[in-house]
Amino acid sequence: MSKFNIRGIVKRCDDYGKLLNRFCGPIFVGFATSLISLIAFTYFTIIFPATTSLSGLFSIFNFFCDLSISLFLTYGIYFNYIKAIITKPGYPHLNETSSSINVLYSLVYNNNDNDIINKESETIIIDNVTWSYCKKCSKSKPPRCHHCSVCDRCILKMDHHCPWIGGCVGFYNYRYFFLFLSYLWVSVCYVLTHSLPLLFGGGGYLYSKRFTEIDRLLVIISSIGSFITFVAVGSFGGFHAYLIGSGQTSIENLYPPKKRPNYSLSSIKDNFEIVLGKGEYWFSGLLPLNYVPSGNGCDFKLNPSQNHFKNENENRNKNEIKGSDDDENSNCKNGDKDSISENDNLISYDTDNINSK
Ligand SMILES: [Zn+2]
Ligand SMILES: [Zn+2]
Repeated sequence: MSKFNIRGIVKRCDDYGKLLNRFCGPIFVGFATSLISLIAFTYFTIIFPATTSLSGLFSIFNFFCDLSISLFLTYGIYFNYIKAIITKPGYPHLNETSSSINVLYSLVYNNNDNDIINKESETIIIDNVTWSYCKKCSKSKPPRCHHCSVCDRCILKMDHHCPWIGGCVGFYNYRYFFLFLSYLWVSVCYVLTHSLPLLFGGGGYLYSKRFTEIDRLLVIISSIGSFITFVAVGSFGGFHAYLIGSGQTSIENLYPPKKRPNYSLSSIKDNFEIVLGKGEYWFSGLLPLNYVPSGNGCDFKLNPSQNHFKNENENRNKNEIKGSDDDENSNCKNGDKDSISENDNLISYDTDNINSK
């Protein structure tokens, strides 16, 4: 078979895979929701009543503690899962009325000889942010933004396309996605610690007359489902905890470019706060609450040792943008987070679908 045909077959398989991924999203979401709901139903109707009692002061205290933790974990799972699904990951969109966009498009489309476009890497610097060009979308994209071939659009700080949420995990929904994994993993641990004594405890309690055949079947299915989730989500969530702690996305970890800035801040705590947010208490970032990440998904803080990336951009802007307005330039040079909101008139994003507080 010729090389051409093999390529054609691979490409066709890839296209079918993407189509399957796109249209089977609701099936994956439905399956995950059903499994979680089945385990929750079994826990609250069979496992929890069988492992708690209201006889005695300590038992009553234990009952309400157990119930509070169970309800909180269940809420955390559903809240974060729903938010991960309905919150758009964020899409790059330059404001077409800004003067910067006119400069950009004239450079990209007219391909003139202005110095601020780097012909080799096809990048352009606006407001100290190095934008590259997505040929599939025919639009510019900021750092850490990637084109998702399943969604067929560019995603801000894209992590990966997740069939289990039926979309991409990116800048605006990554926290919900990670917390969903975390709450789910802790919850299945909780279910297993309650169900395993029922299954393997002395006296064969599960096989007593108290339980029907359906009860036993539900407990066994829920325990198996919980164990598989414990292993799968534990390893996947652990990988994401490592990524957050080291300031990376999945794409950056799996396909590291030859030269890219290091986004890991000076401590693991700082890296987690960038993703989970910083609240009043140490555990605030772990609470199932509405959250909009700071920044715009376009300009990111760098490792202190990597500030030369910023300085290079600043120098290129200073030296190579000819005849630009001084006031406008000074407004674009500052790369810290505070300046980003001030530049919102220059760069805007499709955030209208993001559910804010
Ligand atoms: Zn694209
Ligand atoms: Zn996608």
